[in-house]
Amino acid sequence: MTAIQLQTETLILIRDGEPGYDEARSVWNAMVDRRPAAIARCHTTADVAAAVRYGRRHDLEIGVRCGGHSIAGHAVPDGGLMIDLTPMSEVWVDPDRRLAWVQGGALLGELDRAAQQHGLATTAGNVSHTGVGGLTLGGGMGWLARQFGLACDNVVRYEMVTATGDIVYASATENPDLFWGLRGGGGNFGIVTSFEFRLHAIGTRALIAEFTYPAAESFAVLRAWRELNATAPRQATFTASIRGDGITVGFVWVGDLAGREQLLQAFDGLGQVVAKSIEEIPYLTLQSRDDSIQGHRYRRYWKGHYFKALTDDAIRALLRNPGVGASLQAYGGAISDVSDEAAAFSQRDTLFEFVTATRWEDPADDEERIATIRVYAATLDQYAGGAYLNTLNGESVRRAFPPAKLARLTALKTTWDPHNTFHLNQNIKPA
Ligand code: FAD
Repeated sequence: MTAIQLQTETLILIRDGEPGYDEARSVWNAMVDRRPAAIARCHTTADVAAAVRYGRRHDLEIGVRCGGHSIAGHAVPDGGLMIDLTPMSEVWVDPDRRLAWVQGGALLGELDRAAQQHGLATTAGNVSHTGVGGLTLGGGMGWLARQFGLACDNVVRYEMVTATGDIVYASATENPDLFWGLRGGGGNFGIVTSFEFRLHAIGTRALIAEFTYPAAESFAVLRAWRELNATAPRQATFTASIRGDGITVGFVWVGDLAGREQLLQAFDGLGQVVAKSIEEIPYLTLQSRDDSIQGHRYRRYWKGHYFKALTDDAIRALLRNPGVGASLQAYGGAISDVSDEAAAFSQRDTLFEFVTATRWEDPADDEERIATIRVYAATLDQYAGGAYLNTLNGESVRRAFPPAKLARLTALKTTWDPHNTFHLNQNIKPA
């Protein structure tokens, strides 16, 4: 380990072969196996600023690591400098003001656990080892979003290190343009070292309901599920899991119980239920329920679409699933209350987010696994209206932002990062 004195700061750099190097460079998708020239383990905002200056001075390609869940492994540059934020994972909660300050390298579980000590929470994703950083900067969808908006809609202030290694703040009153861009524009503008989140009183319980019907009823059930979703209370987020041999639909419920029983009854009436599971669980259990199935060490590939409508033809195409994982999660509610101009995040009129994903272990299977997902996703492309920035996997950011938004984001990028220092991300290129 090398400690480099930069003006007044000391930055810890780990190089290939040194203790901790392999652990720090390994990320969620086991297909990503890159070797940075150095890894900067950052403990403070000053460390991050020093790392950015060091990387630029030595002309090193920079990657920024929080949870390491980017499917493309954007956090890990080959031969460059990985700025590792994982030592910066503190969360402070003020229960009276219902605010949380979250360091830029924290994982969702750390935020959820700190807030739930007071019966509070903010929108966070569904797997607790995902990073607050990447998830929130790209938008941040979770079980509370239909009630309280996306994760990015709940950030009231950011602390950020710029491409020149300076520290700036963004909120409704400080650098408001940057504040607009950080809410959904990804890691393009700088390295966020602290997020200030608004919290909500949600209690500590949640309910997860899943209903399985005979394969022959899949089409009818999905149509009825789509209709039921249109009037679902905001506490409910509808889910569907489409397999090669049938479907399971249901919902996750968090918060005020009014309307829950009627919804459960409505699902019973969607078709001939062959299996049913209704679990009332702690909210923290809900938030980590998929942690193992979504664990590290597997090779991974996914594709995503946003559906603005779910037509009968789209349902037919969805059901021609070649035996891979495929899911729908409902948007709407508070997500679409926010006007499209209010923040970089786009496509707020999305009805359902679709993701098809696969995991495997043997590299010999790479080609076939990837091809199967690509072909299935391509058959659905004609029904899609764009995609979520955080699920893009090799596609252009044009899928996530309409032209006018992209033009504004490009101008913002040109102001804050004219040399595209931060390009290992869902990249918006400067003009
Ligand atoms: P990283 O790979 O560390 O970072 C991803 C990108 O964000 C990189 O380009 C990095 O440069 C940038 N970045 C990260 N932190 C910072 C920072 N502090 N400042 C500046 N740039 C930063 N998304 C949802 O919305 N909801 C979900 O429920 C959800 N579930 C998921 C479950 C799993 C198992 C996985 C793998 C992904 C899930 N996602 C979900 C998608 C997730 O939002 C993206 O994969 C996201 O990029 C993960 O962020 P990270 O910090 O873990 O990843």
